[in-house]
Amino acid sequence: PALGELVLDVDRIRKQFGGLTAVNDISFQIRAGQIVGLIGPNGAGKSTTFNLITGVLSLTSGTVSYRGRRVSGLPARAIAREGVSRTFQHVKMIPDMTVLENVALGAHTRGHKGVAAAMIRTNSDEERRLFREAQRQLERIGMGEYLHEQAGNLAMGPQRLMEIARALCADPALLLLDEPAAGLRHKEKQALAGVLRQLRDEGMSILLVEHDMDLVMQVCDHLVVMEFGTLLTQGTPEQIQQDPKVRAAYLGT
Ligand code: ADP
Ligand code: MG
Repeated sequence: PALGELVLDVDRIRKQFGGLTAVNDISFQIRAGQIVGLIGPNGAGKSTTFNLITGVLSLTSGTVSYRGRRVSGLPARAIAREGVSRTFQHVKMIPDMTVLENVALGAHTRGHKGVAAAMIRTNSDEERRLFREAQRQLERIGMGEYLHEQAGNLAMGPQRLMEIARALCADPALLLLDEPAAGLRHKEKQALAGVLRQLRDEGMSILLVEHDMDLVMQVCDHLVVMEFGTLLTQGTPEQIQQDPKVRAAYLGT
């Protein structure tokens, strides 16, 4: 997408779980080359919002459009194929395989043949393509020195970057990251921040669910603040930090 193009349009989305409205008419947008942070206390509805965008959960009402096309109602796999890629809060890997193998194995090929099937047909063009792509994405985010390390030996920081490389293999225009900084040391967070800024500068759009306020304030262009399923406010990090509602409800000051 061209820089500034509307990539994600979340329009009054709502999710009810029985009598509980977990997400209550939330609207926000993400443009190409923008990092948007989705923040709020536990139970605010962040994960549910994430799952509504990726099609893991179905909407009660509202619409989600990706690059001008309505994607709400499509199955998760189809939304991923359109170019919406995500990481999970808990790293998924095969510890005794290498980093490169782990990324290649998880490199979803925008939905064509199953990756596992492609890998079983050894020496297939598809397998070679997957490994090339995995290596390219790992090198892109500074993981080139880890290609042949056993994934299980990685520290938490490189593990999270491995997850991001895997998500990038699907060639997404929108990356959704679920608490990528959880459990990271300061230096690892700084490395992660550098990678996120780099991806943004390359035109990627990122939706970041994250508890670490330092990271959020450092890298996000725009923040969406949720509380009890509703949109408390949204704005630049500076605006959010000054907002009395946010200070009262969330920052606790
Ligand atoms: P957050 O990620 O901001 O901590 P969640 O989106 O996980 O919040 O949850 C929002 C609310 O919805 C919470 O009250 C939670 O208990 C409820 N909730 C989440 N998922 C389900 C579900 N599958 N069934 C019923 N209630 C749910
Ligand atoms: Mg959550």
